[in-house]
Amino acid sequence: MIEIPRQKPKFRFAPSPNGPLHLGHALSAILNHDMAARTGGDFLLRIEDIDQTRCTPDFETGIYTDLSWLGLSWHEPVRRQSEHFPAYQAALQALIERGLVYPAFLTRGEVKARVAAFEADGKSWPRDPDGTPLYPFDDRERSDAERRRRLASGMKHAWRLDMERALAAAGGPLHWRESGDGETGTIPAYAAAWGDVVLSRSDAPSSYHLSVVVDDAVQGITHIVRGLDLFHTTSIHRLLQTLLDLPEPLYHHHRLLLGSDGRKLSKSLGDTGIAEWRSRGLSPAELRRRIGL
Ligand code: GLU
Repeated sequence: MIEIPRQKPKFRFAPSPNGPLHLGHALSAILNHDMAARTGGDFLLRIEDIDQTRCTPDFETGIYTDLSWLGLSWHEPVRRQSEHFPAYQAALQALIERGLVYPAFLTRGEVKARVAAFEADGKSWPRDPDGTPLYPFDDRERSDAERRRRLASGMKHAWRLDMERALAAAGGPLHWRESGDGETGTIPAYAAAWGDVVLSRSDAPSSYHLSVVVDDAVQGITHIVRGLDLFHTTSIHRLLQTLLDLPEPLYHHHRLLLGSDGRKLSKSLGDTGIAEWRSRGLSPAELRRRIGL
């Protein structure tokens, strides 16, 4: 009888070292770790430090300290995104060569002004699921000659996905398989809702969306367990995975923890971090109970 090799499950926790980890991160890390343990899989760690202006070595050290204190161990080596910019660049280049991305020259200020002018007389500019205004079509519609002229003159630019062409190239409706705390089953991916998403910026060589799909593939991740706040971005990830011919992982978007003000925990809102709870004398077991585990 032929043995069909079963793929070993691989889970990952992928924090950005741009602030101290909070209880929501603890929930995500523990869920990933425990699911890996239950399924005989690996638990991997990825440091998402693309944004070199906000990520610091101290926050990264804090991540290792917090996870170790929680009693979690991970499969080495840790993947640090800042060490893999050429991999993201290669993926971007492949999309450029297929004409699926374009150089985008509008500054944030120009986009803001455009939206404000449009909305001044009561109309509303279309927004993505996070509430950010969609990128205007100016750059998508620019001629090749004009693009070349601007690029040759050294004009600052980002690279954005041409959503219309990308969807056409994907060749049909996309979906993902979901087992999380929200909607489950086969979920239709609706990437169009995000407009022409940015894949690389003038000040950062890759975006979250591009690097996350490349890394999940490179690390062989089979199960993506992360917060429900990233549920809708999965549409973009499925589109990029299809365009780049990368494998499709299973998804599990877990419940979010809310702060006392009823808002989701965030580093920027100054919610109490894991380190803070530790210094108050909470034990890892008490912390697990606190977050409902
Ligand atoms: N780096 C992201 C964050 O800290 C997580 C990305 C992911 O799990 O896909 O929110």
